[in-house]
Amino acid sequence: DPETVEETSMNPVVIAVAITGSVPRKKDNPAVPVTPAEQVESTHEAYEAGATLVHIHVRNDDESPSSDPQRFAAVKEGVEKHCPGMIVQFSTGGRGRDPSARGSSLYLKPDMASLSTGSVNFPTIIYENSAAFVEDLARKMKELGVLPEIEIFDLSHLHGARRLIEAGLMNARPHVQFVMGVKNALPAEEPLIDILLSETKRVIPRATWTAAGIGRHQSEVMGWALARGADAVRTGLEDNIRVAKDRLARSNAELVSLAAEAIAKAGRRVATPDEARRILGLRPAAGAKAA
Ligand code: ZN
Repeated sequence: DPETVEETSMNPVVIAVAITGSVPRKKDNPAVPVTPAEQVESTHEAYEAGATLVHIHVRNDDESPSSDPQRFAAVKEGVEKHCPGMIVQFSTGGRGRDPSARGSSLYLKPDMASLSTGSVNFPTIIYENSAAFVEDLARKMKELGVLPEIEIFDLSHLHGARRLIEAGLMNARPHVQFVMGVKNALPAEEPLIDILLSETKRVIPRATWTAAGIGRHQSEVMGWALARGADAVRTGLEDNIRVAKDRLARSNAELVSLAAEAIAKAGRRVATPDEARRILGLRPAAGAKAA
């Protein structure tokens, strides 16, 4: 297949930027964007630095986690206007949100949405994702044509994804993200990434994959993923607010620039928006010229 050969030889990498999250606050790092306007501006800077996928949580004005579809719509609209071709991914994550509202913005049809396929302990809470709840979110995403990014906080979550595929609730080519370094879940230890990756290739062989290192583990996990041929890397202030022990990141764009350097160091290059969509199996952006 000539297309496969071409893609392998070019070997571009998607940079995903998680701009806000539900935990970091402006008091922790003033660069964390909170209002939709700040989020669009921060995403645009990250896009200019090479990011091609934005992972979005929205907040209320008091910075508490929000599920307001109007806020999701405002960020999506701004990103689509200012960052042509960028992949928009909504979080359906649970921290601080009413479970029934976690999928309430999917009707806006972002390109992607995160999907956790099982429960796990977090630093101070149980992150609850019952089988019925996961099936319901997966069914909604399938109906709306939203590509899931499966969040892997535990080995069993890969099997949760496999069950969704077998039940016809998800296509066989999701994007998979190993999340490492969350206290009480998977630690950021290199042998674990090999276990997760070999199990992914065994049970979801067509999946694309990446790994996210939380906090001070961000750059080392990125290096492990790049060394193993990851399709994407993940960075951003949701996961990590520092560039060194004693220095805060100035912006999401600064973290994206560090990711771009890591990609070059690994002998690969940063994907363009069109390439990013092709790698993840997404259709070209609305309004894009047909090739
Ligand atoms: Zn998130």
